[in-house]
Amino acid sequence: MLPGVSTLGEPLTRALGPKTARALEAAFGMGTVGDLVRHYPRRYYTRGELTDLSSLREGDHVTVLARVDHVGTHQMPSKGRNAGRAEVIITDDRAKLVLTFFWRHAGGRYVVKPLVPGVVGMFAGTVSRFRTRLQLVHPEYELLPGAPPNADLTPELAAEFAAEMIPVYPASAKASSWMIARAVKTVLDPLDAGEDPLPAELRERHGLAGRAEAIRAIHRPLDQADLKRARERLKWDEAFLLQAALAQRRLAAAAMPAMPRPHVDGGIADEFDARLPFTLTAGQVAVGETIAGELACAYPMHRLLQGEVGSGKTVIAIRAMLQVVDAGGQAALLAPTEVLAQQHYRSVTGMLGPLAQAGQLGAAEHATGVALLTGSVGAAARRSALSDVFTGDAGIVIGTHALLEEQVQFSDLGLVVIDEQHRFGVEQRDALRAKAADNRPHVLVMTATPIPRTVAMTVYGDLEVSALRELPRGRSPIATTVIPVGEKPAWLERAWHRLREEVAAGHQAFVVCPRIGGDDGPGNGTGKGRAAEEDYEYADDPDDIGADGDDGKRRPPLAVADVAPMLAEGPLAGLRLGVLHGRLPADEKEAAMRSFSAGELDVLVATTVIEVGVDVPNATAMVIMDADRFGLSQLHQLRGRVGRGKAPGVCLLVTDSPPGTTARDRLDAVASTTDGFELARHDLELRREGDVLGASQSGRRSGLRLLSLLRDERTITEARDRAWELVAKDPFLTEHPGLAGMVAEIVDEERAEYLEKA
Ligand code: ADP
Ligand code: MG
Repeated sequence: MLPGVSTLGEPLTRALGPKTARALEAAFGMGTVGDLVRHYPRRYYTRGELTDLSSLREGDHVTVLARVDHVGTHQMPSKGRNAGRAEVIITDDRAKLVLTFFWRHAGGRYVVKPLVPGVVGMFAGTVSRFRTRLQLVHPEYELLPGAPPNADLTPELAAEFAAEMIPVYPASAKASSWMIARAVKTVLDPLDAGEDPLPAELRERHGLAGRAEAIRAIHRPLDQADLKRARERLKWDEAFLLQAALAQRRLAAAAMPAMPRPHVDGGIADEFDARLPFTLTAGQVAVGETIAGELACAYPMHRLLQGEVGSGKTVIAIRAMLQVVDAGGQAALLAPTEVLAQQHYRSVTGMLGPLAQAGQLGAAEHATGVALLTGSVGAAARRSALSDVFTGDAGIVIGTHALLEEQVQFSDLGLVVIDEQHRFGVEQRDALRAKAADNRPHVLVMTATPIPRTVAMTVYGDLEVSALRELPRGRSPIATTVIPVGEKPAWLERAWHRLREEVAAGHQAFVVCPRIGGDDGPGNGTGKGRAAEEDYEYADDPDDIGADGDDGKRRPPLAVADVAPMLAEGPLAGLRLGVLHGRLPADEKEAAMRSFSAGELDVLVATTVIEVGVDVPNATAMVIMDADRFGLSQLHQLRGRVGRGKAPGVCLLVTDSPPGTTARDRLDAVASTTDGFELARHDLELRREGDVLGASQSGRRSGLRLLSLLRDERTITEARDRAWELVAKDPFLTEHPGLAGMVAEIVDEERAEYLEKA
């Protein structure tokens, strides 16, 4: 390395010295110069602009730019002879904020000495409340050499600050924004950013800045235009690297051998079609043909099937599985919850009838076996299921996570179907796929969560996508109404009345609550493994989705354990009520679902265990309690449980959130449209909203920093086209070694990050 030149890979200890490096490592996990320069400012103060102090909230760690307005010092003789306190009032010219400093010894007072009225500085600390006022106690601060009345500045320094936009970094108590700024400046001056990962002709074509230039400008922009160019270029890096990685992944997967599983005339699949009680929709036929064709290929299918709730994806999956079984292979169906796995098992065995009874009396000629594997299948049943999977007697294997366990060995796994993919990570898809012996199995993933195009391109970019846009004929739309119990308490009465009417007409209903209740604590979920059933008994964290006024003092959300008895004794007295949630033993869950399906229960009071996939066509009404505690997509999924038959569905969203709040707007959005794609977009928008000053100044360690899946659709689309062109020509990027290295680095981080949040 040349003396005085640093590279992106250089350790921060070398570039900055151990003390600063340790602080940055502790605060943000940074190890190299590259990590530091990718820690982008979260905003910029332009000279003369002060932070809006009225927007601060208690508990936020903030960095504010403000002017000292007034300083008062007081003795505190009770604490010691030289003990004292200073109150420094800072202002943005409208609101004020108090800085409080304490000291025990005479030397302590010097910390406030530079704070004289008129100076402008950055102050960082955690906002706390003392009586009615917000304050920062012992904030870190750095004064700007602006033009304080009594500052003695060199003219050069003053000039530099006059021209500059001041970067404000995601900071923490141990690493202040200006400490980071200084560190960045130190590494930027001698930085050699290395080979530009974007090919020159691409930069020219899209008018993009060079990488070295962009890195400089995002940290030290000359003006807004300079900054804009830098951001545009760095967004391209994010989008392009990810798309290149996905293109490589897809190309590599397609190069793997797979066993072709062509359609067999006169097999189970054909018989199944003949027995179907309905005609397939045009969309189902078209997607079915695509899949049938791909299953017959000698390289693996990787297809995402997106379809509105109730669009009939299951039947497509069954037909694909049967084609593989006819061709001599096995098919596995992975479901995110026990309830759903059991339901799939019931409906597959039900629809197949004698076709699913291999080895039993009265089985059809080429019948196959269907095995169910979930965490709570009894030991004996499990042994026999495992054996059937191993020998191949079970052509179709349905299960939850239990399918991923090591003991589960297939004879010849030809197709993996993953239902409600949004509940699973890529790792689970891969884990199941790895169970195929020599060849790669074909993979079909299904989701009802409508995914905005950009997200699909980003997260599922290695999959081909099919969509089912139409619902089977004869479906009636679901009417959704918000029941605002705050303003219209009488409406709740009417909601229960409405539910009784549905039951009187021979239909069934769900009542959904956010919480199980009884002895559950808020630590119920593990936070990891979103697909685990216990995890989403709770609604999505409303903090994530922009709930208003969440000051931690809200009452706990309504629980099944409380609501069910209340209904049984009150408004729904006399109806047959059942209860379903994830903490029930498996056999009770199964029994509850079974009796509800069989019409032996009128009303099922449940948590979100029924969110995905549950299919009881006779259910026509759903009342969702504390609806504001659920995510938008979640509400959309939930209401998809009703109106699946001929009769119209009704969904009532009960809430006490007042009109005009974000919470209420979200519910109104759900009520106003049944278009899942529109709602998904809305959801994404709201999730981004939490990013207000101070809300989260801590840096993100990885992932998409600048690129917004919502706003940068054009960049993402263009980057994708360019990346795919490039990878098609040069699959291993041998002509672009810099790019190849960065691509390898970036992919896992980003996928993991989005999936965690999704
Ligand atoms: P989802 O796409 O949400 O998984 P399902 O596969 O559970 O939807 O299908 C919903 C319901 O629609 C099921 O009862 C299924 O039997 C029924 N169904 C599927 N396809 C058709 C069709 N073409 N005509 C009528 N009903 C259908
Ligand atoms: Mg489904």
